[in-house]
Amino acid sequence: MNEAGEASDATVPAANAPANTPVVSIRGLCKQFGVVRAVEALDLDVMPGELLALLGPSGCGKTTTLRLLAGFEHPDAGTIRLGGEVVSGAETFVAPERRNMGVVFQDFALFPHLTVAQNLGYGVRDRALRAKRVAEMLDLIRLNDAKDRRPFELSGGQQQRVALGRALAPDPALVLLDEPFSNLDAALRMRMRADVRDILKAAGATAVLVTHDQEEALTLADRVAVMNEGRLVQVDVPAELYAHPLDPFVATFVGDADLLPGVSNGTDVETVIGRLRAPGAPQGQVDVVVRPEQVKVWLDGNGIGVVLGIEYFGHDQLVEIGLPDGSRARSRLGSARDLVAGDRVSLAVTGDALAFPAPQRSSESSLTST
Ligand code: ATP
Repeated sequence: MNEAGEASDATVPAANAPANTPVVSIRGLCKQFGVVRAVEALDLDVMPGELLALLGPSGCGKTTTLRLLAGFEHPDAGTIRLGGEVVSGAETFVAPERRNMGVVFQDFALFPHLTVAQNLGYGVRDRALRAKRVAEMLDLIRLNDAKDRRPFELSGGQQQRVALGRALAPDPALVLLDEPFSNLDAALRMRMRADVRDILKAAGATAVLVTHDQEEALTLADRVAVMNEGRLVQVDVPAELYAHPLDPFVATFVGDADLLPGVSNGTDVETVIGRLRAPGAPQGQVDVVVRPEQVKVWLDGNGIGVVLGIEYFGHDQLVEIGLPDGSRARSRLGSARDLVAGDRVSLAVTGDALAFPAPQRSSESSLTST
């Protein structure tokens, strides 16, 4: 489908490659706008049936990567292969409508004058197949009862399911989803995550989703590709990203985490809240990654921490604690509201912590090995 939502004959077949061939294979992809390096030397593979999330802060290059994949932008360098065939490269550029991709846009971009069934059938070129595919999509997105309604007669969640069904109907090699939940309110967004994942999995689709919301990426995707300043920083399954972030950026962007400065002997790190276990930590000045669920905190008139604020969520709460060296740590506590801002507290960290070199600090104190 092209940017205007029109379909055309595809050159990239849906299933023309063996199962171990990546559906998408990107190598050395670069795109610059003036002085802004939006995408730099990006390498990425997406395997058949995989749901991959491109995650990163605003301006990190996620949308540009998606647009390069779709063929809405020409790369400055690098290649993009779809099903093993080059679609963007030094001498090749396959137009968007010939890439056999389905796109789900942020605003869904449904045709307002067409019914649900007509929207679903729009991209299916083969007339003989159209009715069958529309029926299959109506089942898949559970909107059989609404097939004759037009988009304005649907809820936001239903509109999103139609947008997804419309993208899937031509049986594309790849589905691209650009911040697909940004138009939905918070409660609906959470419900739709599972729905969208279920629909994509039931269709056996390969998909790339762009999001700046780490929770969305972790709950939805099989693998998450974290981007920062145009570069791909780490690609892994959600649990590995969370447990073994490659750098402090990933550690603090994927899940909640605070960095405490300290001095490491390779096994333990001396910090303002005491000695923390960090097996395998680099020696010398480090930043220790401390996740709120690791931090225990209790009221103590002689404690070194001061409660700065509390975010109360009902089922739990996030307590922010100021420390004497100016650093901060957060602790995730149950719902009992026994701390208030200004309370003096003690802290302890449970389990092992991760540590990264802290190159900016120069003065280095020593820590004796135990
Ligand atoms: P967001 O989550 O805010 O959409 P993003 O990660 O998707 O951000 P991109 O939209 O890919 O980021 O933008 C990457 C960088 O390239 C940004 O600095 C952006 O301002 C710049 N950029 C993107 N498109 C253009 C364009 N057409 N012209 C000039 N600069 C652009």
